[in-house]
Amino acid sequence: MPGQKTPIITIDGPAGAGKSTVAKRLAEKLDLSYLDTGAMYRALTLKAIRQDVDLENEEALVRLARRTTIDLEYDASVLKVFLDEEDVSEAIRSVDVTNKTFYVARAPRVRQIMAEWQRAIAKRKGVVVEGRDIGTVVFPQATWKFYLDADVQERCRRRIEELREKGNNVNADRLAAELKERDRQDQTRSAGPLKKAEDAVLIDATQLSVDEVVEEMLKYIKNHCRLN
Ligand code: C5P
Repeated sequence: MPGQKTPIITIDGPAGAGKSTVAKRLAEKLDLSYLDTGAMYRALTLKAIRQDVDLENEEALVRLARRTTIDLEYDASVLKVFLDEEDVSEAIRSVDVTNKTFYVARAPRVRQIMAEWQRAIAKRKGVVVEGRDIGTVVFPQATWKFYLDADVQERCRRRIEELREKGNNVNADRLAAELKERDRQDQTRSAGPLKKAEDAVLIDATQLSVDEVVEEMLKYIKNHCRLN
């Protein structure tokens, strides 16, 4: 690992671009920890749904966040997500949670709380962090920043394949519509919208395998050694 003792590598980009797989692989190669910030938004959304909190009420969501603990454990390539000590790793991936997370994600004060949590986690160890606003808002001073993109058709194709592998029945048209809607919501919210940080390296993964993306990142990191 060239340079810093606790480097922060950010990977932002739209849903389905392959951020999670790439981020995990990169973390393993560089012996860093891995932080999935989307999982945190999902976990809070799950709690809001379960407790029947009005998702349109920012104040209520802030109160909910303040009485919530979200822990992420990453070990042997497996991410476990704990909501108030309950393992919700599977539950946060449901279609309902996926489609309702934008309510929580668009609330500026909830985003501030999330960013504080994320900064606190990253203090402990060097980390690869993936999300939407990580290079722009959460860690503007990150050591290395990447923005991973891919054509929407390709992102859909990968998502469908992934879901089918898990034995889920997928309606391709509906999934495409949901993915496009998530892109729109992520890009147009006023707080922490999805966008490339000016100093992030853009990688278009449409034609690249996971290994090729990781190789490109490693090459960049090696060639841009940051000595602090
Ligand atoms: O990455 P993932 O698709 O699991 O994220 C779920 C949702 O959480 C995204 O659609 C996005 O709206 C939100 N999110 C966010 N900011 C982040 C990470 C995720 O708003 N840093």
